[in-house]
Amino acid sequence: PTDINALADEYLRLAYHGLRAKDKSFNATLKTDYDNSIGKISIIPQDIGRVILNLITNAFYVVGEKKKENITGYHPTVSVSTKKEGDHVFITITDNGNGIPPKILDKIFQPFFTTKPTGQGTGLGLSLSYDIVKAHGGELRVETKEGEGSEFIIQLNTL
Ligand code: ADP
Ligand code: MG
Repeated sequence: PTDINALADEYLRLAYHGLRAKDKSFNATLKTDYDNSIGKISIIPQDIGRVILNLITNAFYVVGEKKKENITGYHPTVSVSTKKEGDHVFITITDNGNGIPPKILDKIFQPFFTTKPTGQGTGLGLSLSYDIVKAHGGELRVETKEGEGSEFIIQLNTL
């Protein structure tokens, strides 16, 4: 039984402070919105934690890249929220990066697919995450708008 809000928050802060330790100029606004009615759910915390970390790491990467474009008024923002609806729990990781082009959208969950420069990405994060969530009986989905950002949604069962 795991407190998913605590787990998500721990990985969000861990990832953020890890990035800031490596690059002092990196900054992003973190937004959180946790549903306190969730209670504890039965998951393998290391595995779901890994999924959350993968998604958050991707989110920080894309907002960091967009920041380099020096768009006036742009501020990198990564949000994590949780929501209980019936027998489902949703953990959503949102970024205001550049979104995912339609032509690659059906490839991002494939092993070794990456658009990062050679040596920077393994292309395994999303494929591994997809498998972990499936093994938990859940679903991993993405919603994205080119130029505006992406939202990755982990759906788990409360039962
Ligand atoms: P990697 O991070 O090593 O590239 P992933 O499996 O985590 O591998 O992601 C695969 C690809 O999916 C990324 O290279 C990128 O093209 C795309 N992607 C993943 N997350 C995002 C995101 N939040 N915004 C835009 N593109 C993304
Ligand atoms: Mg990744």
